[in-house]
Amino acid sequence: HAAKQLSLPIQVYHASLESRAVQRLSLAADLRRAIESAELEVYFQPKVTLAGRRVIGVECLARWEHPTHGHVPPTEFVAVAERTGQLGRLTELVLHEGLRRCRDWIDAGRPLAVAVNISPRTLMDAAFPARVGELLREHDVPAHLLTLEITEDGMVGETERPLPALRKLEEMGVRLAVDDFGTGYSSLSYLRSLPVHEVKIDQSFVQGMATDPGDLAIVRAVVDLARHFGLTAVAEGVESELTLSLLEEVGCDVGQGYLFSRPLPHERFEAWLAAQTEPDPVPVGVLGHGG
Ligand code: C2E
Ligand code: MG
Ligand code: MG
Ligand code: MG
Repeated sequence: HAAKQLSLPIQVYHASLESRAVQRLSLAADLRRAIESAELEVYFQPKVTLAGRRVIGVECLARWEHPTHGHVPPTEFVAVAERTGQLGRLTELVLHEGLRRCRDWIDAGRPLAVAVNISPRTLMDAAFPARVGELLREHDVPAHLLTLEITEDGMVGETERPLPALRKLEEMGVRLAVDDFGTGYSSLSYLRSLPVHEVKIDQSFVQGMATDPGDLAIVRAVVDLARHFGLTAVAEGVESELTLSLLEEVGCDVGQGYLFSRPLPHERFEAWLAAQTEPDPVPVGVLGHGG
C-alpha cells in the first residue's frame, strides 16, 4: 500500500487533505470492486407523456451504496470513474442493464425506451458508437428504443470533437437527448445544427416555474423552440401538481420526476409499472350520448 501511495503525484499539505486523498484512493479501488459485483446498481425512473399520461420510457440511473460510506452520489463516483480509467466499464454496465430490461419489456409486449447518461468524455472515444451497436445487437434491441442523454456542454465541447460520434450514433438510429438544458454555456442555435432528438429542460427551471415568472418564461421558450425544430421536450424534476398543470399549459411533451416516481430498483419499478392504470379507451356508449 505504502509504495503505491508514494508513487502518486499528490502533494499532501495537511491532515484533512491527506485523508481526502486517501479516501479518494480507496474509493477508486472500491468502485472497481463495485462495478464487478452487484454493489453498483441501476435504478429506473419513468418518463411519462403529459397529454396521455403514458409511461413511454425510463431513465437508467446508477446507484452506489458503499458498505461503509453509505450512499455515494452518482456525480461523485462518475468523477472518480473518469479520473481512474473506469468510465468505460461503468457506462457499459448501465447500458447492459438498461438494454437487458428493454428486451424484457419488448418480450412482455410493453416496449419502453431506455435512456442512459453518457459522460462528455465517452463521446471523445472514437470506438464508442460501434460498441453501442454491438450492445444493441447483443440484446436484440432496436436502436430507436435507446436514448443517450448528454449535457449540452458535452455535445458541443470546446471543439467539435464530439460531433463525429454524435453523427454516427444518429446514423445508427439511436436517439440523442440534451440533458440539463439551459445550464450550459452554448448558444441556442446549436439545437439546429446538432443531431438531437430530445431536449430535457433542467429541473432548476421546472421547479421554479410555479413561483418565478422568469423560469416559467424560459420553460415556455424551450418548449416552443423544441416544437419548432421537431424535438421532444422533456421536463425533469416534476415534483408538484401545480408544476404539472403549468407544463401541460405550455405544451411540454413528457415529464419526469418524483410526482410520478422516484428512481426505483428494478423489482420495485416493475411493481410501480404494473400498478399504473393507463387511460382507458373512451367507452362507445359514452361517445354516443354527447349530442
Ligand atoms: P441527470 O441525468 O440530470 O438525472 C436526473 C437527476 O435528477 C437524477 O439524480 C434523479 O434522481 C434526479 N431527479 C429525478 N426526478 C427528480 C425530482 O422530481 N426532484 C429532484 N429534486 N430530483 C429528481 P441522480 O440519480 O442523483 O443523478 C445525478 C446525475 O448523475 C445525473 O443527472 C447524471 O448526470 C449523472 N448520472 C447518473 N447515473 C449516471 C450514469 O450511469 N452515467 C453517467 N455518466 N452519469 C450518470
Ligand atoms: Mg439524464
Ligand atoms: Mg438532467
Ligand atoms: Mg441534472
